[in-house]
Amino acid sequence: MQGSICAYCGLDVGLDVDHFRPKGAIDEDPAHGGYWWLAYECSNYFLACTTCNRNRKKASFPILPFTARCTYQTRGTIRAEKRILLDPSEDPIEEWLTLGQGDETGKLIPNADLSTEERSRVQEAIDLFGLNSDQMVRGQRSKAYERAARAAAEQRWDELRLSAMCHRPHSLAARIVLERVAPECLPTAEEEMRDLIDLLWKDLRTLVDEIRSFRARARAPSPVDERQLRELVWALIVLRSDPPAGDPSSADEYLGQLLEREEAEIRTAIAALFRAMQRALAEVSGHHGK
Ligand SMILES: [Zn+2]
Repeated sequence: MQGSICAYCGLDVGLDVDHFRPKGAIDEDPAHGGYWWLAYECSNYFLACTTCNRNRKKASFPILPFTARCTYQTRGTIRAEKRILLDPSEDPIEEWLTLGQGDETGKLIPNADLSTEERSRVQEAIDLFGLNSDQMVRGQRSKAYERAARAAAEQRWDELRLSAMCHRPHSLAARIVLERVAPECLPTAEEEMRDLIDLLWKDLRTLVDEIRSFRARARAPSPVDERQLRELVWALIVLRSDPPAGDPSSADEYLGQLLEREEAEIRTAIAALFRAMQRALAEVSGHHGK
């Protein structure tokens, strides 16, 4: 879903797995003890850059004053909790955040037609994550906006469409430009999925090639490469069985087509990994069934 983009600031850098609701003590409410029951809940995970996760958000999870924080006993009503931080997968970020028209400094602002409560939540997110004050974040967003505005002026729609895909860095800037000048060109979920699979596939190929060349020289592949290889295969298996665009048959077919284009040796290596991973996946779901 995210590619390798930080869920909060949009940078494309090394990523941590952030618990959106902290699993331990919460800064604003130490007596609460944290949302420990969500420690292994995937929907509570976001990929985030080290700065956003460890230096900015940390164990912060503010809620509106005079409202109740969700506990293990009331966990069934968690969606009604009056959290302040924006959830990038639940909240309509693109309707809430925008860039000033023609403002090439890349400053994010709350959309004009928001309620007072929504406006203050958006501002809180901007301040907590330093979305306008962090030089690198703001600078990259400003460049992305300039590039998108130029592409729109020169009617380079394919390029603009690609940079507007949600797993591309600072895609919000390109999406805002497209929304204004050619909303019909916004990429569909299906196109985003195909692009993401293409990118993952390219990485997978590079790694398989690298590991092969190590073995050809009778040297052991690095454990980091092998771990990345397994991670990529997992990512592709999950996308295949649960594609974000919602049509498993087309994702399956597409992966099949990609695999067909590979040389026999690479195909065998990837297929063997897929089989091993799928066996592991079946065992995991078997356990869940029990
Ligand atoms: Zn970040």
